[in-house]
Amino acid sequence: MSADLVRQIAMGNIDYAKNHDPSTSFKDSPDMKAVMVISCMDPRASPNAFWNFGEQGPAVIRNAGGRASDALRSIRTLSTIMSYGRNTVGTVVVVHHTDCGLLNFDDHYVKEKLTERVKDSPELVSEVAKMEIGGLGNLEASIKEDVELIKADPFLPKDVEVLGFVYDTITGRTTEVV
Ligand SMILES: [Zn+2]
Repeated sequence: MSADLVRQIAMGNIDYAKNHDPSTSFKDSPDMKAVMVISCMDPRASPNAFWNFGEQGPAVIRNAGGRASDALRSIRTLSTIMSYGRNTVGTVVVVHHTDCGLLNFDDHYVKEKLTERVKDSPELVSEVAKMEIGGLGNLEASIKEDVELIKADPFLPKDVEVLGFVYDTITGRTTEVV
């Protein structure tokens, strides 16, 4: 996306702002938002769309593949500051989706491209070697892996509940797998 295109999109915000009701302040957010959803950054895999969340919906973390390893910093942080410490994260939901870019390109491919980009620096090349990209092989397996990773995280409340869903980009349906 070119910078000009972004500026054009941002111009459309003028219309959005005309009908915007002021958001509830963070301090006054209701306690019930004790749910977090992790999903892929792919525009087709938006929990706000497939689960019909409005502004009062749960926090949604989106990254490449909807991987837990990438989301942990956010989950840990929110689990301490939610509702100004009155409440904490009770349930985390992992959603991976069919036809994900990370099903089409594996870690090896991504690392090869990154290595190419920094090939003049041995230091950076070895940094790429250590990177975990999180390519997906089998959706059920990757969802289970991420659910286990969050459950085992020592920085989260012991009783945090973790669920895993797959989102089908063709049918629009979500199915609980773990
Ligand atoms: Zn994806």
